[in-house]
Amino acid sequence: MPPLDPEQHQAIAARVRYYRDLGVFDFYRRGDAAPSEITLESASEREAETVAVPVAEEAMPKKHSIAHPKDLFVAESLIAPERRESALKAIREEIGDCKRCPLAFAGRHTIVFGEGDPNARLMFVGEGPGADEDMQGRPFVGRAGQLLNNMIHAMGLQREQVYIANIVKCRPPQNRTPEPVEANTCSQFLFQQIDVIRPEILVALGSTAATYLLGGKASLSSLRGRFHEARGSKLIVTYHPAYLLRDPRQKKEAWADLQIAMKELGLKAPKRPPEQQG
Ligand code: URA
Repeated sequence: MPPLDPEQHQAIAARVRYYRDLGVFDFYRRGDAAPSEITLESASEREAETVAVPVAEEAMPKKHSIAHPKDLFVAESLIAPERRESALKAIREEIGDCKRCPLAFAGRHTIVFGEGDPNARLMFVGEGPGADEDMQGRPFVGRAGQLLNNMIHAMGLQREQVYIANIVKCRPPQNRTPEPVEANTCSQFLFQQIDVIRPEILVALGSTAATYLLGGKASLSSLRGRFHEARGSKLIVTYHPAYLLRDPRQKKEAWADLQIAMKELGLKAPKRPPEQQG
């Protein structure tokens, strides 16, 4: 077998670690090649690992399938409110300098973990960091973030009172939609965050967030306007703020979605209508 270049080594090692995280330990090669062994060497650690190669590709997550959140471990017991901050820190530590999916090798600067109140009753989930978020390491700090802030204020809340995260924690190149393998790999950590925070209401911002929180695809218009369920929380699906910046006429619809969440949370209607808040 010809030697792999260091980038290929790293990518394969990351993929193998990811499968191990999912509990898949046996790897098989496609084609006629006789079972053999391949040696993986992490470029940074020069740490050689040997992986046996009996093959069961069926055991690998399908490249284009969408993991259903229910298939992944759901925390059974509530974490006490005072322990949630440290539980979130532990998840961040587990993520480390993540190399589990191709986004780690696609130009990301910072892993954007998410931020907000560990005891938030309301949690927003976007798609993935953009350029501003990638530089600052915080979710929704660019133009779309400004609009999200306005939406939060319109609900009578401060940004610090909610929790904000994304389906993927690394910026997809050119802000493209995350690939299923990227979203499925990363969302296991988002689900852990949701399990710790246990918000009463999740708001999926846009169809990527809705797809991976619901474990399947449907049109945004068919999902809006009613509650769904995800990881034990009620889920509302609405437009992504970036979409609302492009088509401000839909702000009214998004506001109607947020009002469903407000009613459930017992939040008061704002004094100023959201159209005046940008
Ligand atoms: N868009 C997203 O989906 N998430 C961010 O954090 C910023 C922009």
